[in-house]
Amino acid sequence: ATMPPLLAVMANAGRHGVLLKSAVALERLAQVDRVAFDKTGTLTLGVPEVVAVTRLCRTVAEDDLVALAAAAERGSEHPVGRAVVRYAAERALAVPPATDFLATPGRGVRATVGGRVVEVVAPRGLEVAATEAVAAHEEAGRTAVVVVVDGRPHGVVALADRVRPEAPATVAALGALTGGEPVLLTGDNRAAAAALADRTGIAEVRAGLLPEEKAAAVRDLQDAGHRVALVGDGINDAPAMATAHVGVAMGRSGSDLATQTSDVVLVRDDLTALPRAVALGRRAERVVR
Ligand code: ADP
Ligand code: MG
Repeated sequence: ATMPPLLAVMANAGRHGVLLKSAVALERLAQVDRVAFDKTGTLTLGVPEVVAVTRLCRTVAEDDLVALAAAAERGSEHPVGRAVVRYAAERALAVPPATDFLATPGRGVRATVGGRVVEVVAPRGLEVAATEAVAAHEEAGRTAVVVVVDGRPHGVVALADRVRPEAPATVAALGALTGGEPVLLTGDNRAAAAALADRTGIAEVRAGLLPEEKAAAVRDLQDAGHRVALVGDGINDAPAMATAHVGVAMGRSGSDLATQTSDVVLVRDDLTALPRAVALGRRAERVVR
């Protein structure tokens, strides 16, 4: 017996590394006319590396600053947190234990370390955002996070990430296929977002977005009459994914919440599977009707 056409298409998508959670997901994917991408972990490999540490407080040595940051980040599953922990390990630093760990998606972490409250957070909303340390890193296209100890900024950690090799071609393919300009929605800073958009061929960028603001950005596009696919990997992308016409998650590196919230999973983290799945979805529509 031959497989029903729709199931055959879904199985075919599966062979290409696209997990469709339902037939409706396939149909919705075929209807998409704008694709919105998250940045970190989606268009980039999501494995940022610490490239510089700047001290803002003369009484704390650089190694101690990194050790405090790593202590606060130890419970983090965010790529920035993992990079800070890895960096401390590479430098063989003694990382003190931490308690009261709290992660705030789109902002950063906080923990108690040796009686002090240590935060590692986005510079947004901090007075230190005005300092040259953060601005210089951001202008170079890096992500800068601030290490705050007992409410006072003590230093800046700068990180750099690499663009996924297939990202520019995928952005171009989806633009052509959907007839709509892909957009970048990110919680990262404007300069880092602009640098990444430039390298991947994206013209429209919204940066500095909190998770709910990402969802609002998707809603704005939908209010303008678009059917939006949101492609993301993080907990911070879940509200936008739930808002979108169809949510697409990175399967391998993506967080559990992202893969659970999504309608479509790119099982191999390979972005080229996405335009292929959109094309398959359109073919399925023709087959079924
Ligand atoms: P993106 O949209 O690019 O994936 P996120 O929304 O995950 O970015 O994060 C936005 C910003 O919040 C990061 O660039 C970083 O400044 C800050 N941030 C998030 N999580 C952490 C963390 N664990 N440690 C430090 N900073 C963090
Ligand atoms: Mg991300």
